[in-house]
Amino acid sequence: MDIQAKIQALAEELAGTGVRIVAVSKTKPLEDIEQAYAAGARAFGENKVQELTDKHEHMPTLPDLEWHYIGHLQSNKVKYMASFVHLIHGVDRPKILKEINKQAAKHERVQDCLLQIHIAQEESKFGFSYEEAEAFLKSPELGEMAHIRILGFMGMATHTPDEAQIRQEFRGLKQFSDRMKKEIQNSPVELQELSMGMSGDYKIAVEEGSTMIRVGSSIFGARHY
Ligand SMILES: *Cc1c(COP(=O)(O)O)cnc(C)c1O
Repeated sequence: MDIQAKIQALAEELAGTGVRIVAVSKTKPLEDIEQAYAAGARAFGENKVQELTDKHEHMPTLPDLEWHYIGHLQSNKVKYMASFVHLIHGVDRPKILKEINKQAAKHERVQDCLLQIHIAQEESKFGFSYEEAEAFLKSPELGEMAHIRILGFMGMATHTPDEAQIRQEFRGLKQFSDRMKKEIQNSPVELQELSMGMSGDYKIAVEEGSTMIRVGSSIFGARHY
């Protein structure tokens, strides 16, 4: 199947669920993004700021195209994407949010963000623990960030063939999100999104309440670094 057929098949599979596709286009050329766009994809995910800004600059202007940043973020790189990035999925520490707030203010924008929660067993993945996220969401510090909106959470499950474990991790994040929704009503927190699921585990993520899946290789094919 080509890219267009894969997008259409995935959209059909998700029909009626309300789950959105973030097509992860990292390492892939603009032509691939244009093909996916032609098939109806609107949200594209990148995990390197340099690559994101290059693609944003060289892509023909398509008014409804959204760039999503899904990678780990360094403070000194936020400014390069602050004028246009639609949603930042990987906010993994309070310090980076301060910088996002500052840069968004310069562009008179309110930047939508997701807090990345560390749900996997692997040590290497970034993110808040549940306890840290809860404390941060309830802190007065957050209320002072007028150019930030926290729209929800992002989580990456452990890379394992054990589907029960993956399901458990996604389910835990959904439960946390539901509890936070009840307990936190103050701005700038408007919890409505759960970014969970990649090519290998999105079906489980959708069953466990994902609202947004980040799918790369099963749309664009394997990546060659
Ligand atoms: C690369 C990447 C994806 C997509 O991975 P696939 O397995 O190709 O679908 C999703 N989320 C993040 C954070 C990524 O870095």
